[in-house]
Amino acid sequence: MENKKELRTWLDDLNLSHPLVIAGPCSAETEEQVLKIANDLKDTDVSYFRAGIWKPRTRPGMFEGVGALGLKWLQKVKAETGMKTATEVANAAHVKLALEHDVDLLWIGARSTVSPFIVQEIADALNGTDKIVLVKNPVNPDLALWLGAIERLATANIKNLGVIHRGFSTYEKSKYRNNPEWQMAIELQTKFPDLPIINDPSHITGNRDMIFDVSQTALDLNFDGLMIETHFDPDNAWSDAAQQVTPTALIQIMKDLKIRKETDPEAEYNKSLDNLRAQIDIVDNQIIGLLGKRMKASDGIGTLKKQKNVAVLQSKRWNEILGRMVLEGQEHGLSEEFILKMFKAIHQESINHQEKIING
Ligand code: PEP
Ligand code: MN
Repeated sequence: MENKKELRTWLDDLNLSHPLVIAGPCSAETEEQVLKIANDLKDTDVSYFRAGIWKPRTRPGMFEGVGALGLKWLQKVKAETGMKTATEVANAAHVKLALEHDVDLLWIGARSTVSPFIVQEIADALNGTDKIVLVKNPVNPDLALWLGAIERLATANIKNLGVIHRGFSTYEKSKYRNNPEWQMAIELQTKFPDLPIINDPSHITGNRDMIFDVSQTALDLNFDGLMIETHFDPDNAWSDAAQQVTPTALIQIMKDLKIRKETDPEAEYNKSLDNLRAQIDIVDNQIIGLLGKRMKASDGIGTLKKQKNVAVLQSKRWNEILGRMVLEGQEHGLSEEFILKMFKAIHQESINHQEKIING
């Protein structure tokens, strides 16, 4: 990716005094629904009106979008409200139709980014376009696949590029619909600081009550904008009902978000501080999650020891662990004193868990 600075020209040219906001329903359902939501959003900080026309559903038999007909509704949105429009494209035919209907921003969905064939087909169909093209992360946490898609578009002479971070699917259930894996977004930003990055808290959380917190974390991590699914009757939306917010709720979210765009030294300092604190919060949550996992394994050992009537404390094994962790700690700049203290506490908690099982 050469001339990386050019990648953000489209965003800089918008001259926004706040993060970029893309909002609108998950799916275009009817002409009235699309126009009503667009009218509710027109005099707000929302820059692009989104609506899915072709919907990639994980399982068949669900609403798969209204198809090309919806593009006419997006044209009406532009004519009636002056808002710019955005939709997902997943093959060359979609691209052709979207360009013919003058959609301003196209995004590649998470289920398409995983396929280099599809991405290449879209890149070829878009060759040389000045439309904005945003690439959602692939459903699986693979940074190379995400970057590969961006590279295919850049090689096809598409200048106005960016990415959307929408989280990653996991086999294990978590509180998120799609795990944010923030470290990956941070790594992407570190490698390509000029590539605009938009957060999609709707698909990360799958739950409208969590959208504000994830949006704030994203802004603290220097994301350039947000894509938030918005519907006047979220509960009755034809797709992704649980995660959509009303236009009123969206306006409140935008109002409440702490945004730091100023450039005086004090503001810069606070912004850097928020960024580092957000990183620490993410790691702290991961630590707690891992410790919980460790204790679950420990509980399993407790059950086995109970069956075999074996003592809880196995000193030889414990000393081996400590020795290994002290060495591992050194490699990460952690003092022996700290490692010993921390593992003593972990070990004690482990013993408590096992004793509870054996005596319980
Ligand atoms: C969407 O934006 O409605 C969508 C289908 O998103 P994703 O590709 O992130 O699942
Ligand atoms: Mn959706």
